[in-house]
Amino acid sequence: MPENNEITLPSNFIKKIIDDDLLTNKWGGRVNTRFPPEPNGYLHIGHAKSICLNFGLANEFKGLCNLRFDDTNPSKEETEYVESIMEDVHWLGFDWQDRCYYASDYFDKLYDYAVQLIKDGKAYVCDLSADEMRETRGTLTEPGQNSPFRNRTVEENLDLFERMKKGEFEDGAKTLRAKIDMTSGNLNMRDPVIYRILKVDHHRTGDKWCIYPMYDFTHCLSDSIEHITHSICTLEFEDHRPLYDWFLDELGVYHPQQIEFARLNLSYTLMSKRKLLALVEEKIVSGWDDPRMPTICGLRRRGYTPESIRDFAERIGVAKKDSTVDFAFLEHCIREDLNKHVHRVMGVLNPLKVVIDNYPDDLIEEVEAINNPEDLSMGTRILPFSKVIYIEKDDFMIDPPKKYYRLAPGREVRLRYAYYIKCVDFVKDDDTGEIKEVHCTYDPETKGGSSPDGRKVQGTIHWVSAAHCVDAEIRLYDHLFNTENPGEGDYKQYLNPNSLEVVDAKVEPMLENAEPSSRWQFERVGYFCADSKDTQPGKPVFNRTVTLKDTWAKIVKKG
Ligand code: ATP
Ligand code: MG
Repeated sequence: MPENNEITLPSNFIKKIIDDDLLTNKWGGRVNTRFPPEPNGYLHIGHAKSICLNFGLANEFKGLCNLRFDDTNPSKEETEYVESIMEDVHWLGFDWQDRCYYASDYFDKLYDYAVQLIKDGKAYVCDLSADEMRETRGTLTEPGQNSPFRNRTVEENLDLFERMKKGEFEDGAKTLRAKIDMTSGNLNMRDPVIYRILKVDHHRTGDKWCIYPMYDFTHCLSDSIEHITHSICTLEFEDHRPLYDWFLDELGVYHPQQIEFARLNLSYTLMSKRKLLALVEEKIVSGWDDPRMPTICGLRRRGYTPESIRDFAERIGVAKKDSTVDFAFLEHCIREDLNKHVHRVMGVLNPLKVVIDNYPDDLIEEVEAINNPEDLSMGTRILPFSKVIYIEKDDFMIDPPKKYYRLAPGREVRLRYAYYIKCVDFVKDDDTGEIKEVHCTYDPETKGGSSPDGRKVQGTIHWVSAAHCVDAEIRLYDHLFNTENPGEGDYKQYLNPNSLEVVDAKVEPMLENAEPSSRWQFERVGYFCADSKDTQPGKPVFNRTVTLKDTWAKIVKKG
């Protein structure tokens, strides 16, 4: 199991609260946070923010962070999700040690707490249907009406609740409700439901229960049972805090502090598990780990590193006000990481054949290439060079505009690490206008890419040797949605039809057996990751993680 990763979040209001609590010895010097996912889908980058925050704080304050599955909704939850969540938290570099808990482990205790509330006259069994309950709940401006069942006696409530548990009533026929205040200005306090009947098997408790506790009741008590100190959740739970406090106060149990922070929103994507599930079920994407998904497994398959996601989470910070982070910033973080660490290679996405007329037919030379100019300790490698090579189609133009410094008739360019070549001719398909091949001459004096006579060329282009290169399938990914805010309105209308383009590329020989999930920079083209599922020895498949163009850095420069 990985060690918990050292991450230091910049100072924020939550840290201040913890600092103060440590000073006043509020929790006896303890810090115990938790990450409480509902296992009803795969984790996304928003969850990553919460994971980094909760585990990061525990780590920084020498405390603990529990993993807790908030599994109170049996109809939507599955073991597959539990396993994927564990895998993703570990992959991000965090570990809950022996503290993996399930809200469902507390079902007996929660039942007892509910019985205690009934005995204290603080909860009652209600026969109103869901519709009737909605109709009597009132609105933000109007108070609700008391349920006609609100004044049942304790004995009657105890009897009915037990019979609910025994399965005597149908789904929806009865609920257990907290008896708080139907006129409260906070709708969450208007006699919220604590238990409902649901004759559905649970992924862990099987058919033991046919009544299930509601989120608000379960969550605060789970925090209490685990002796959590700081229960950190997203802003939409601010209005639920009075209820969180009410349950714990009425029951007189250990009482953690709930603290809300702004959830992560990211442009050009969605953070709702429900909507992400729909994309998977309707096969709009290939699965939860489709490299276009904002899920942690999707980002992993795309080529993101855990370091880059932790870095992102640290740098976006923790705020009290909702905002949207530019997707370009996430890309900036992965670029920074990959730039420092990955091996450069040459890969040509749209190959154009170039014949070097004056190069000997049978000669194969070796040229030396630097593996990472940012980290020379990564060494060099040898590339084969021969008479026929491939370059990118867009590195050649018959009539180049001004400022086009690449290959064109009569122009000389540098082949990275190899020679200067000059275009002397080209072959064009008269029907389609497509350039079939380009003819060049090379200057044997320029081996390695520089000229002894000091002659300069303006462009440097990448290439692969036709006789030695390897065919590779390359998946060029772009945003899944073509609008910044697809979450507003009908998100499916904003699907980007060009979010995936597949090309047959030619890559340098060392990529023939690229390890699944290995990461590379294709010089001048972008960062790529060998697909974890589809790449095979001799048949490499690469996902584009991100292009080289850093739009975020540009935005920041412009100010
Ligand atoms: P979704 O809306 O995607 O279903 P959720 O909040 O219902 O998300 P949970 O499984 O309940 O998903 O979330 C587990 C934890 O992750 C919660 O503490 C929640 O507050 C946090 N979380 C979820 N989404 C985000 C987000 N976008 N940014 C930060 N934290 C998040
Ligand atoms: Mg939730």
